[in-house]
Amino acid sequence: ENLINRIAAGEVVERPASALKELVENSLDAGARQIDMVLRDGGRTLIAVSDDGRGMTAEEMSLAVERHATSKLSDDSLTDIHTLGFRGEALPSIGAVARLSITSRTAAGETAWALRVDGGRKGAARPAALGRGTRVEVRDLFFATPARLKFLKTARTELSHAQDIVNRLAMAHPEVGFSLSDGTRTLIKLPPVGDDPWTGRLERLGAIMGRDFATNALPIDARREGLRLTGYAGLPTLNRGNAQHQFLVVNGRPVRDKLLFGAVRGAYRDFLAHDRYPLLSLFLDLPPEMVDVNVHPAKTEVRFRDAGLVRGLIVSALKHALAEAGH
Ligand code: ADP
Ligand code: MG
Repeated sequence: ENLINRIAAGEVVERPASALKELVENSLDAGARQIDMVLRDGGRTLIAVSDDGRGMTAEEMSLAVERHATSKLSDDSLTDIHTLGFRGEALPSIGAVARLSITSRTAAGETAWALRVDGGRKGAARPAALGRGTRVEVRDLFFATPARLKFLKTARTELSHAQDIVNRLAMAHPEVGFSLSDGTRTLIKLPPVGDDPWTGRLERLGAIMGRDFATNALPIDARREGLRLTGYAGLPTLNRGNAQHQFLVVNGRPVRDKLLFGAVRGAYRDFLAHDRYPLLSLFLDLPPEMVDVNVHPAKTEVRFRDAGLVRGLIVSALKHALAEAGH
C-alpha cells in the first residue's frame, strides 16, 4: 500500500509546484475566498496552504488521506466534472512522500482537528486550534523518496514554477484572494476582485501582467457551436520570449495545452517573429462532453472532441480582434 502510494505520488507530485497546485485546487473546491501560501526553500522544506473554505470534520480528514477517498465523485461519469479534484489521490500521494499535517475546522465544528501522515504512516486525529478553514503543511517533500529529491532544482527555480502555478490559478479565479510568501518576503499578493467577470478579470490581469497590458488589451468574445471564448488579447507589440504570460483557462481550469498554444501562434503568425509570444488571457467554455480534462493527473493538458472547431474559433476570434485594432 505504501509502495503503491509512492508510485502514485510520482504521477501527481513531480515537484513542489505540483503539490502546491493540488493543495490550492482543494482549497478552491472547498469554496475558499482567501488562500495564503508559504514556500520555504522553494518548497523543499515547507509548503503551507491556508484557506477559509468549508473545512473538514475529524472523520472527513481521516478519510481524505486514504487513497481514492475523494468526496467529489458524485456519479461515475468522469467527463462531467465540475470540481477540480476527482481522483482522491493528492493528499495520500503527498502523505506518502513527505511529512503532511492537516488542521481543519468546519463552520459547525466546536474545535479544529489535526492529523499527520509521515512518509505514509498515518497518525490519529487530535483536537487543535484554528479558525474556520483548513491549513495544510507539507514538510520535507520527497524525504521518503531520495531519488526524487535529487531531481529538485534550485530553490529559485522551484519557486518560479510555483509562482507560475499560482498566477495561473489566480487568473482563473479572480474572485479569490491569493498570497504567496517565501517565509520572508511576499512574492504574490492578489486581493479578491468583484464578481463581474469582465471587470474582475481585467483587474486581476492588471495585477498579474501589469497596467500596460490591462489598459491596451483587446477584449475577446466569440461563440461557435456551443463554444464560447472570452478574455483579453495583447497587441503584438506586447510580447515576451516565452509563453509564461499566456493564460489559457478551459472550463475554469488553467491549462497549458499544445493545441491552444498552437492556435494562438497561428493567429499572430503574420505579426510576430516565431520566437515571440503575445500576452493574453483566454477563457474557453464548452459543454463538458466536448472536452476531456483528465488526460494526465497534473491536468494541464486537455483533449478536445473537435480540435478543429476549437482551433478555428480561437484563430478567427484573435485575427478578428487584431484586424479591428488595425493589424
Ligand atoms: P480530490 O481533490 O481528488 O478529492 P484529494 O486527495 O486532493 O482528492 O483530497 C481528498 C479530499 O479531502 C477531498 O475530496 C476533500 O473532501 C478533502 N479536502 C482536501 N483539502 C481540503 C480543503 N482545503 N478543504 C476542505 N476539504 C478538503
Ligand atoms: Mg484534490
